[in-house]
Amino acid sequence: MKSPQSAQPGESAVLVRVESMAEEMTAFLQELIRIPTINPPGENYVSCAELIGNRLKEFGYDVCYVAAEGRPEHSPEHPRVNVIGTMRGDDPSPLLHFNGHFDVVPAGEGWTKDPFAGVVSDGKVYGRGTADMKAGIAASIYAVEAIRRAGLRLKGTVEQSGTVDEESGGFAGVAYLAQNGFIAKGRTDFVIIPEPLNVDRICLGHRGVYWFKVTTMGRIAHGSMPFFGVSAIDHMAEFLSAVDGTLKPRLGQRRTTMPVEPPEARRPSINVNSIFGGQPEGSLQTPCVADRCAAIFDRRFLAEEPFEQVRAEICELLEELRRRNRDFHYRLEDLMTVLPVQTAPTAAVVKAVGEAIKDVLRKDPQLIASPGTYDQKHVMRLGLVEQCIGYGPGRLNLAHQPDEYCSIDEMVSAAKVMALTAMRLLGTA
Ligand SMILES: [Zn+2]
Repeated sequence: MKSPQSAQPGESAVLVRVESMAEEMTAFLQELIRIPTINPPGENYVSCAELIGNRLKEFGYDVCYVAAEGRPEHSPEHPRVNVIGTMRGDDPSPLLHFNGHFDVVPAGEGWTKDPFAGVVSDGKVYGRGTADMKAGIAASIYAVEAIRRAGLRLKGTVEQSGTVDEESGGFAGVAYLAQNGFIAKGRTDFVIIPEPLNVDRICLGHRGVYWFKVTTMGRIAHGSMPFFGVSAIDHMAEFLSAVDGTLKPRLGQRRTTMPVEPPEARRPSINVNSIFGGQPEGSLQTPCVADRCAAIFDRRFLAEEPFEQVRAEICELLEELRRRNRDFHYRLEDLMTVLPVQTAPTAAVVKAVGEAIKDVLRKDPQLIASPGTYDQKHVMRLGLVEQCIGYGPGRLNLAHQPDEYCSIDEMVSAAKVMALTAMRLLGTA
């Protein structure tokens, strides 16, 4: 595979083009924000896919829509429809794919601006999904359009996809595209996902996730005579104290070499996401010993921790409690597992984006990894594409917050970085 990498003729003309398109790019972002693609449950996906698809068609792409047929969440009320635009160059390869999810989390409370109006104020566009990640979608589409308007043609092929459901795991979105060969080793060389990771940082990958549920079982008895029963809540308390006293200190000793941001997340962690047991909240008072207690745990693990070990540690804690107390009965269920992924810091896509950041922002790029997962897992684990990174405008700490915004300047800078990257990875004619 050839990847030119070096500065291409016409780069400064393209950068001027990007600058001159700031208003158009902002207007497109506002249009995207005004379609509330709230997930869950996954509203208005078709209109948003069409808005992106129509713009891509206007900009010279072949456009196709991919509905996630066969996925249970693809329903008549909430269809899961993805859009892909392809602009073929002289050669099918190298192929650079920009992928952005267009679903957004619910607005939530605490907004001072209308979350779905696309308000512009003080050089910022406000709204749910501005940073995460509709500004990224606008930036990648206009980055490539600037090259075309400057009268240049990319030699390799560029693709843009708008996908669904990243916020709920991406199974009908990027995972579906990867499983069906749209994003796949052998056709896709580089993938850039414009998540809001700050405009001068490149995200190489993310840590692993293990969600599991522990249920402890006791024996019901009258609350005035608890000695005749076995409390499932007491058993859960024992497990929680083993997590605190045994597991957490062990996790505190481990550290990853991945450049995870914030640095506190370079150690593994475990969180209790929820706990429920005994008398249900809001019901009438009944004096009973709880015969069932369940809790859901969120264990984030490092690339250096094999998943089998992560799971075995939990089993061992539970088994140890059972050995000590023959009344200790439990069930462990795996809810979701995502293995860590990381693109090599020396990969061509990392090098190209890094050089472009230096040229556009006059800053050394920071290589980071994300504490949480995003669609990169599907690109690498299912699509087997080796070169995938997160790079885009918007501040990570504003994602999912009230008054989420993206600065127009940052969106334009990111578009410049993406334009130079596309020219250098694909070559121009
Ligand atoms: Zn996102």
